[in-house]
Amino acid sequence: MTDIIDGDAIAAATRDELSGAVETLADAGHRPTLATVLMSPDPASETYIAMKQDDCEELGIGTRDIRLDTDASAEALFETIDELNEDDSVDGLLVQSPVPDRVDYREVVERLDPRKDVDGFHPENIGRLVAGYPRYKPCTPHGIQRMLAATGIDTAGAHAVVIGRSRIVGKPMANLLFGRGPGGNATTTVCHSHTDDLAAKTRQADILVAAAGVPELVDGSMIQEGAVVVDVGINRVQREGESELVGDVEFESAREVAGAITPVPGGVGPMTRAMLLYNTTKAASRQSGIDADLPALDV
Ligand code: NAD
Repeated sequence: MTDIIDGDAIAAATRDELSGAVETLADAGHRPTLATVLMSPDPASETYIAMKQDDCEELGIGTRDIRLDTDASAEALFETIDELNEDDSVDGLLVQSPVPDRVDYREVVERLDPRKDVDGFHPENIGRLVAGYPRYKPCTPHGIQRMLAATGIDTAGAHAVVIGRSRIVGKPMANLLFGRGPGGNATTTVCHSHTDDLAAKTRQADILVAAAGVPELVDGSMIQEGAVVVDVGINRVQREGESELVGDVEFESAREVAGAITPVPGGVGPMTRAMLLYNTTKAASRQSGIDADLPALDV
């Protein structure tokens, strides 16, 4: 029987575990607060921001919803970031990607105070992750690590294959999987768009993380019997005139061979959202100096 890993349920449990820490901070006079900055008319970005704001409010985390005109200058965005960096009532800060082409997203990320960078994208935070003492783990790979731990999947000694080497998913995922300690200690192979014979690599995986952004790139024939398959992809495709959401894994053929698999939707997505709440609460505890007795979610 293939185990379908229920990301919604694990994320709900994670939020429950976090609620005590949020309450402790609020009772001590410091309500954790996340500021989001949106500078794009992209409807998907609007939806992501709305989801992040709703998640926060449900848990008692305060929000600041800052929107800049798409034709505002890069300087206006930087000034907004500077103000939020200085604002002690803001614990976590993120700028929703994408930003308009004329604004360099790399410069945007580098402008963030790394202590408020709850996405974990600032070079200082990436450096700390690679060095093995992360401040904030990026939410998607951290959510995956958490989901594997909550499902009782031991990564130590396993061969993990990660498809994708992006800054926000593939690279940090590989680092977490081969890093020392719980949730790590795997032997890790990273595949990308220049990888030759992808299937030969994926078939060697005990744990396969697909984060390529290519609809149903991985099918059952590319999976080792009993492997754990984590599908990060979120791809909108048109099928028979209908718009459909699919992952990077062809779910039906993959579930025939996999030992455990995450669905799309309801797998990685909710875990990503839950870990943003965790990072924001952690930021609030650090910035306020209040011991919030954070749950041990760092695996
Ligand atoms: P990206 O486009 O930045 O990176 C994709 C990576 O996949 C690249 O490193 C590329 O080399 C590799 N790749 C592309 N085609 C490949 C192929 N045919 N074979 C092997 N490697 C290939 O994307 P990303 O930001 O890392 O996101 C990947 C996917 O995950 C997207 O579908 C995205 O929407 C989704 N995503 C989901 C969540 C979530 O919370 N569920 C979060 C972030 C991203």
